[in-house]
Amino acid sequence: LNNEMSDNCIFCKIARGEIPSRKVYEDDEIFAFHDINPIAPVHFLVIPKRHVPSLQDVAASDVPLLGRMQVLIPRLALEQGCRPGPEGGFRLMANNGADGGQEVPHLHYHVIGGPRPWKRD
Ligand code: 5GP
Ligand code: ZN
Repeated sequence: LNNEMSDNCIFCKIARGEIPSRKVYEDDEIFAFHDINPIAPVHFLVIPKRHVPSLQDVAASDVPLLGRMQVLIPRLALEQGCRPGPEGGFRLMANNGADGGQEVPHLHYHVIGGPRPWKRD
């Protein structure tokens, strides 16, 4: 089942390098890449390489992975041009399911930042 899902999943293909992307970061479990339609000066996506549809599908065994992603994100945000400290910062957003406005059904965190104004708030 998981293989069928990932065969047809655009973000699984990006994580495997089968669809090109502007890579921000990669390790054994995590992949990050620039959003193709950025809404702010900094806008990249952080995903688990493994096909997880959304936060509605995570389990206690995913806590280490989710924790690593959240610790990694502020570091990548700074590397990508988000400013440090309380005057800088970034927005972290995850859309989950149709009611959450999720369009790509592979768990992803949007990291959005840089000097305002942005295209959208
Ligand atoms: P969602 O609405 O699911 O939270 O966000 C999906 C995001 O993925 C959107 O911001 C969209 O611009 C981005 N996206 C969709 N397809 C691609 C793609 O093929 N490559 C990249 N880099 N981003 C994509
Ligand atoms: Zn996937």
